[in-house]
Amino acid sequence: MRQTVREAAREIPVRWTTDILVCGGGPAGVGAALAAARAGKRVVLIESYGFLGGAVTNAGINGIGGWQHDLDGRPLVTGIAQELITEVSRESGGDMEQVRSVFAHRHQRPTYREGGLGCYWLNINPSMMKIVLDRKMEAAGVQLLYHCHAVYPIMDGNVIQGVYIESKSGREAILAEIVIDCTGDGDIAFRAGAESWMGEEETGLCQPGSLLFTVAHADVPPLNYSLGAEDESHLPPLERNRYAGAIQRARQRGEIVENPNELFCAATPIQASDPHIRSVNFTRLQKIDATDVESLTAAELSGRRQVLEAVSFMRRYIRGCEEAYLLYIQPQVGIRESRRIRGEYVLTKEDVLSGKRFEDCVCRGIYLLDIHNASGVANSTLHMLDQPYDIPFRALVPCGVENLLVAGRCISGDHTALASYRIISHCIQTGQAAGTAAAEALDSHMRVRNVDSTALKRRLEEAGCNVGSGV
Ligand SMILES: Cc1cc2nc3c(=O)[nH]c(=O)nc-3n(C[C@H](O)[C@H](O)[C@H](O)COP(=O)(O)OP(=O)(O)OC[C@H]3O[C@@H](n4cnc5c(N)ncnc54)[C@H](O)[C@@H]3O)c2cc1C
Repeated sequence: MRQTVREAAREIPVRWTTDILVCGGGPAGVGAALAAARAGKRVVLIESYGFLGGAVTNAGINGIGGWQHDLDGRPLVTGIAQELITEVSRESGGDMEQVRSVFAHRHQRPTYREGGLGCYWLNINPSMMKIVLDRKMEAAGVQLLYHCHAVYPIMDGNVIQGVYIESKSGREAILAEIVIDCTGDGDIAFRAGAESWMGEEETGLCQPGSLLFTVAHADVPPLNYSLGAEDESHLPPLERNRYAGAIQRARQRGEIVENPNELFCAATPIQASDPHIRSVNFTRLQKIDATDVESLTAAELSGRRQVLEAVSFMRRYIRGCEEAYLLYIQPQVGIRESRRIRGEYVLTKEDVLSGKRFEDCVCRGIYLLDIHNASGVANSTLHMLDQPYDIPFRALVPCGVENLLVAGRCISGDHTALASYRIISHCIQTGQAAGTAAAEALDSHMRVRNVDSTALKRRLEEAGCNVGSGV
């Protein structure tokens, strides 16, 4: 069998020439596009789906973490992240009181409302997110291209010139001064020749994915983060394991066969006014490679089999869910981890745990180390942080490729550090930093990797971002 075929050379039409091209419209991409457009640049944003939001809207991740303060009492979700999430929350009929911290009790630290480090989630309605993001992009003048896939970088040596795209219109090109890769998987940076890693340093295995689904008639106590235990009510809900026994019984009866791993069941409300509609996180897709099409396909198939088992389990074993029914399965498996692109700095577990400060800080991280087990059957390891850490601009600058930045979960860091910086609010903020850096580079006529970090931080501070007050 032939291993390769040669594609014939052909002329490709140029659909747009722009200042800044953002590939991928997830949390990072929307932060990047809005920041660059608000700085007066021509911005094209391309997205594979017909809507923005990334994992929030294509995988149903609707609990936004990171709502904490730094040691000086300043909020850590700031800038475009704060603007977008609070607006979507308002439109979802709720406010931040909706989800109390699940960790504040254990650590006896005040919650976000009280100005402290206690971890805090804010639930939003993903459909509302789509609408708010459309509106924001139109207001900022971002040129959107939906149903459009960024396939390959256009290179001149090691300098990126734009990207080949594919859509219903066929294969076309977009030329740009600067490209920002916000694909989550670092597709463009990887194909431009940037070095990358996947998964655990020892095994290469990534954190598992999860296929979320929505149930109606879930009559569980309103606004709990997880379906926690009455008999362990002194523990924060995520630590309760009320259903361990029931899950074991269901396994013995052959009712849960698709998923051999330790399971937890988190059921978050989507709309403040209706706690009976829950987005459920109860599946685990272990050992998947989100950059491989066969692996992704297998994950979707297994995910949907797990959903069926999970709904049956809820109806049989969870009091209040006897009448629950499956309303909706998310469009795709949520991907916690895939490629991390090597940048000029590699953020490490030690940096995160020690609260490391950097001169070129563009985002202050605080989310706990939430390491879903990549290789074993155990669920996850959680480490609360005692202080925020800095994400340096250099982690957004891939080594060896010019005029390219990355933002979101594919920035430069190790497997453990990613377990913190991957959360939605941090991704929006690294996106905002990348968009702002790209605008600064064009204004100061320099390569984006050489942008003056003082000027960049000043711009971010003017836009309301907390980037630390000097090291
Ligand atoms: C199961 C699960 C639970 C999670 N729980 C939480 C949580 O409770 N709180 C929290 O804050 N975070 C949580 N996260 C993490 C968070 O959702 C992600 O890390 C975050 O969304 C990453 O943002 P991103 O913009 O980097 O990538 P993504 O959200 O993956 O967005 C990438 C976007 O790029 C598009 N795209 C990809 N490739 C291309 C291409 N080649 N061309 C064009 N478009 C492309 C995709 O369609 C997508 O819209 C969770 C994630 C998962 C999977």
